[in-house]
Amino acid sequence: MSDSPLTFNDFGLAEPIVRAVTELGYREPTPIQEQAIPVVMSGKDVMGAAQTGTGKTAGFALPIIHRLLPLASSSTSPARHPVRALMLAPTRELADQIYQNVKEYARHTPLRTAVVFGGVDMKPQTMALRQGCEILIATPGRLLDHVEQKSTNLSQVQILVLDEADRMLDMGFLPDIQRIINMLGKDRQSLMFSATFSNEIRKLAESFLDSPLLIEVARRNALAENITQTVYRVASPEHKRAAVAKLVRDHSFAQVIVFSNTKIGAGRLARQLEVDGLNAAAIHGDKSQQERLKTLEDFKQGLITVLVATDVAARGLDIAELPAVINYDLPYSPEDYVHRIGRTGRAGASGMALSLITGSNDDRLLADIEKLTKRKFAVEDMAVEATLPGHRREARAPRDDERPERVERYRDRDDSRPSRARSSSPMPARPAEDPFFSRPYEPSTEALAEQVESGQSKTAQPAVRRSTRPVPALLGGFKRT
Ligand code: AMP
Repeated sequence: MSDSPLTFNDFGLAEPIVRAVTELGYREPTPIQEQAIPVVMSGKDVMGAAQTGTGKTAGFALPIIHRLLPLASSSTSPARHPVRALMLAPTRELADQIYQNVKEYARHTPLRTAVVFGGVDMKPQTMALRQGCEILIATPGRLLDHVEQKSTNLSQVQILVLDEADRMLDMGFLPDIQRIINMLGKDRQSLMFSATFSNEIRKLAESFLDSPLLIEVARRNALAENITQTVYRVASPEHKRAAVAKLVRDHSFAQVIVFSNTKIGAGRLARQLEVDGLNAAAIHGDKSQQERLKTLEDFKQGLITVLVATDVAARGLDIAELPAVINYDLPYSPEDYVHRIGRTGRAGASGMALSLITGSNDDRLLADIEKLTKRKFAVEDMAVEATLPGHRREARAPRDDERPERVERYRDRDDSRPSRARSSSPMPARPAEDPFFSRPYEPSTEALAEQVESGQSKTAQPAVRRSTRPVPALLGGFKRT
């Protein structure tokens, strides 16, 4: 072979790090890792345009671990383990995901890693912080709570990572992030990652990065190359259900998420697809916590083929090998299109994003998506039977559950800051996270306790653990570009 691929040995990373990734089954670096690892190792600031699923966590975490290793101490004294690298993430799910990865990458080193996020008891986190950790992963609000309680001190942080910065801004974290940055030393390396680029993101980058190197694995606001995107025009909304069933069957998708803009639409479609003989379930904000947990778990276990979801419900869902997403409705915001289809084609695996459109309203939404992603879609006509013949659409105002699902931006946010600390936050136009869905899949301790009481579950586990997904399935899909 003339063109031998780069390996993790080629970066000059410390041996315990290379050993850890080899044990994880990583054979060769992904494109973002190829670009980011040498730059981060050199100590430069980075602005990374990379979506989740590209391998960006290892892209920043491996060189950070390498840089911290000379400072690592095997002493048991907490004072010997100050926070040196801080990684901020918008949701508890992402924070925990980063934590699980970093812990694995640093397993053969004496470096300590901890994670703190809102929505769970602070005490175990406080104990972990008091024992000392060189690498701290956190959601901003909860971190500030710990700082206020003096459980940790950030004055020795020399590397800062801001992950999914666009979502952080969407969620109104800017004031919290600024407060945190003010606590860090001036002489530090800063890295920022974002899937989409807006002027606000650019401004944030300018304010805290020092001559950053721009690392891009996909075009700005563009979508992963490995996702095949197709748009189908059907005759009317009544033809969409048959179109979804046809797409799932024609492609023999093992699993698919179908996006609906409304809660009622999601519920109805799931019921109809069940009637069509597909194994379907809906997940949206009107479902009880128990129902949501069960549906998510069933989907993760592969017991459900078609998960019909609203945008809010789907945020934070990280299903490693999802082969396809279908847009039953096009999203109202083009950024949501990018987030939706980012559910598939993760970590280099190929994926499909199929969208259904009908009238001129959809044409406008499609034009917005084309503008944002800077690509023109070829629209294919799709002939299917209408599933509700003679169904007349009623001329009336939509009921509440027929409106696009929104949650109040600051209420019950994933990151549990006292409300006073949030009052001055700017209010950008995007919908907020549904705190429930931004959490890991595992049932909370309370939910488990309830289940144990009602005899549904035999074992109670801590709320913060999430099962590790198999890595090998992601291998082989990587294309070197
Ligand atoms: P990320 O984009 O960091 O969330 O990574 C997505 C998934 O890809 C995670 O499950 C990682 O464990 C996995 N991954 C990251 N880098 C590699 C690699 N070089 N080879 C194989 N899997 C990887």
